Amino acid sequence: MEAIAKQPKVKNFINGKFERNGHTTMDVMSPLDGRIISNLPLSTYDDVDEAVKAAAKAFPEWSAMTFKERVQIFFKYRSLLEQHMEELTNLVRLENGKTYGEAKAEVEKSMELCEFAVSIPQVIVNEIQEVSKGVECRIERKPLGVVACITPFNFPNMVPHWTMPNALVLGNTMVMKPSELVPLSTMRMAELLQEAGLPDGVFNIVNGGKEVVEAICDHPDIEAVSFVGSTKVAKIVYKRATSNLKRCVALGGAKNHLLVLPDANPEMTANNVVASMSGCAGQRCMAASVMVGVDEVQHIIDRMVEEAKKIVPGENLGSVISAEAKARIEGYIADAERDGAKLLLDGRNTTVAGKEGGFYVGPTIIDYVTTDMSVAREEIFGPVISILRAKNLDEAIEIENGSNYGNAAAVFTQSGGLAKQVMERASAGMIGVNIGVPVPREPFSFGGWNESKFGVGDITGRSSIEFWTQNKKTTIKWNPEAKTNWMS
Ligand code: NAD
Repeated sequence: MEAIAKQPKVKNFINGKFERNGHTTMDVMSPLDGRIISNLPLSTYDDVDEAVKAAAKAFPEWSAMTFKERVQIFFKYRSLLEQHMEELTNLVRLENGKTYGEAKAEVEKSMELCEFAVSIPQVIVNEIQEVSKGVECRIERKPLGVVACITPFNFPNMVPHWTMPNALVLGNTMVMKPSELVPLSTMRMAELLQEAGLPDGVFNIVNGGKEVVEAICDHPDIEAVSFVGSTKVAKIVYKRATSNLKRCVALGGAKNHLLVLPDANPEMTANNVVASMSGCAGQRCMAASVMVGVDEVQHIIDRMVEEAKKIVPGENLGSVISAEAKARIEGYIADAERDGAKLLLDGRNTTVAGKEGGFYVGPTIIDYVTTDMSVAREEIFGPVISILRAKNLDEAIEIENGSNYGNAAAVFTQSGGLAKQVMERASAGMIGVNIGVPVPREPFSFGGWNESKFGVGDITGRSSIEFWTQNKKTTIKWNPEAKTNWMS
């Protein structure tokens, strides 16, 4: 870990070359201990333009290759991820602050995403039918051209892999803008793609912040934009990209509700709820944020507190991303306390010996929260869970339905009938039954509802194939003797 603490300067990656010319820069810090580990260029419209030109130049040759040829590169790339697992894991940990196990799981998930991408030729078989005597229609999926992806800080390795492998295997070329807080994993990804044999210009990286995002939304030669981040920025990006006539899918924030029924298995439920709220320090869009206890579930809450007490910051709980994030999370806890909620476990003022410069918040369980409190409504994005109490399942579902978000919801019960009610009536894109982090695995797709996602379709799996392609419909008649009809 110490060996990789010193990182190279972050560069843009355009047309197969790493470059950095006279930009203003911003420091990259490790949230584990607050050390500056690198810095990155704050790029401008001109950098985006250069990257788009490189991607546009690479597009004709790349899109004309067969699936088989493109896929071979991703077989190699997946092997490289495996070979470099240790290094990539430590890099995620260094720039994001996760635990080693969480960072490793992220890289493993990236490999799984590549496995789906290499299966795309098996998944999409084009359609063909004789629609009239001697006349056939066929539909082929064609790439869009130059596409762009904007990513958040919380999964530096995995979220770029939600989009890059599928979009490229399908024949697009890409400009990616990683979060300025965690640019190192994406830069390493470019090196490994190059080593796997990806032609120059097919994948490009432009580093920076808001100015790069705006340039992507405005650039006339970008056909589609995918965004993952907060709801506030998702709305800005979705509006700006679509008003410039681009296809866009923009995933936003979350406030996931877990409904716990009295018949739930106490041990499994307590473990799952606590793992969901505290994993990745609560910085997951799938994290449990609200638990709605239905009727009498005190025995489960007691177990949750016991379980959460086993979590030790700096050991099995990573840091949050920044000093601002820590202050924001602690501010929410203070508001809840002021508004009359009861703190069963308070993670404020946490420090880790030897890492005093890091940003740690301990697991926090807040009971007797009411729907009007900010901790019940707003995304906290830290290891904090708010417990609300409901008289019955109808009331619990009403609380869940009242959220503006709709990424995930889960129910814990032994009753299939009650679980089915939640599956039917929860207003969220991803539902868990006795699962605290119900992430669908490929070929199923990932995406929320309501203010957790803007745009049609999901970002991964089969749904992403629709997003990254357009249909070409061809109607063919070769036989001149085929009967004349309305298709003559
Ligand atoms: P963010 O919205 O602050 O940043 C995301 C991206 O947008 C970054 O690349 C950033 O540089 C850029 N950006 C930030 N402010 C901008 C502005 N004003 N104009 C244009 N671009 C801007 O999100 P974050 O803090 O990096 O990530 C955490 C958020 O992402 C949480 O809300 C989390 O729920 C969400 N998230 C959602 C999903 C999902 O699948 N729905 C997955 C991961 C993260």
